[in-house]
Formats: sequence, C-alpha cells, structure tokens
Amino acid sequence: MAQDRLFGYNGAVSPRFDDSSGYRFCLICGGPYDLKVLKEGERPRHVCRSCGHTHYVDPKVATVGIFQSNGGIVMLRRGIEPAYGKWVCPGGFVERGETPVDACVRESEEEAGVKIGDLRLLNVYAYPDHVVIVIVYMARLMSGVPRALDESMEVGVFPPERIPWDDLAFPSTRDSLRDYVETVRADSHVSKRSPPCPSAAADPPPNPLVGESARGGEDGGR
Ligand SMILES: [Zn+2]
Repeated sequence: MAQDRLFGYNGAVSPRFDDSSGYRFCLICGGPYDLKVLKEGERPRHVCRSCGHTHYVDPKVATVGIFQSNGGIVMLRRGIEPAYGKWVCPGGFVERGETPVDACVRESEEEAGVKIGDLRLLNVYAYPDHVVIVIVYMARLMSGVPRALDESMEVGVFPPERIPWDDLAFPSTRDSLRDYVETVRADSHVSKRSPPCPSAAADPPPNPLVGESARGGEDGGR
C-alpha cells in the first residue's frame, strides 16, 4: 500500500521514517527531484530540477484522546495496518488548518462514536526516525456510548490494572498510557491529601479515574 511505503512500515509495531527516497517527481510541475544540501549541516532536500520548488519532507502530526467510560480507559482494536489487531486509544491525523484539539474531538467521534470535552494536554510523543508526532490529551466523555466504528474491529474499556500492555499498537500508545495512569494516580493522591479548601471546593480539579471508577462495575474487559 502507498501508505506503507510512505511510512517505511516494516512489519514492526510503528510507522518509521524512510528518508523518502521514493519521492521522485515534483508535486508542482512533475519534474524530477534532485537531493541537494541547501544549507550546510542540514539534511539534503528534494529540489525540482525543472521549476526549483523545494519539497520539505515534514513530520506528520496525530492526536489521541485518553478518556474513561464505566471505570475504564476507552480503547479500540485496530482493524487496519499498521498494527492490525493491536489496541490504541481513539485518535488520528490532524488535517492541515485544523487545531489538534479539534482533530482529537473529531477522531473520537469518527472512531468511537462519542463526544469528548475538557481536553487537557498529557504530553507530546516523538521518537527518532519516526514519521509521526503524537499529541495526547486527557479528556472527559461528554456523551455517547463508545463503539468500534471507523477502522476498528472492537472497543474495549480497560481499568488501569488491566491495560493490555503486550498488545498495544505503538510506542506512543504505551508511553502515553503509562503517563496517563501516573498522572491520574498523582491527581487522586493530591486530592486525597489536600485539606478541604473552601475557595477550591467550588471548582475541584478534574479527576476522571476517581469519578468514573466510583460509578463503574467489574465489567472492565471488552
Ligand atoms: Zn517542479
């Protein structure tokens, strides 16, 4: 598939960067590309021999939303390559001109059929030689019941202690879930230790794990 070639996907669990040696023709005029060093110390760039256009091979930007439903983190089992059959949180690529937050909200709706809100940045995940930079948000489920829609074969709801660590799709899935679990734990620790504060009581910090766990049952599997 074209996408596999673009990502240099090699059967491992993550799309990798392949120096774009497959790019041969100018996007503007169709002329042949030369690889040229335009500035000393920088990577060679694709420069069109006919019109002089320089094509910069940029990273791709994706967003992912981690949110809970019924006491567990909502995850999807991928029905497409790369990482077919592996678990991810809802997310996808940011369109040009779209904000990452809007992309995250849109992807959760397209992939899991839910509306999320209260997005809060968890972290940004990038790896040497990987094409994709992933912006991960912690979010709150506002409406809808999660279900597997676009590109997924199954939806799962996993409490932190039952996250399928050996079956996660990407390094960013693993690292962001680790950070999420730690963050939620730290938040709950802080809120348990803090003495009641009248001024803060009206606006408690968001704590999705505690809120959802209190309502959730033992049905944490799939
Ligand atoms: Zn050209």
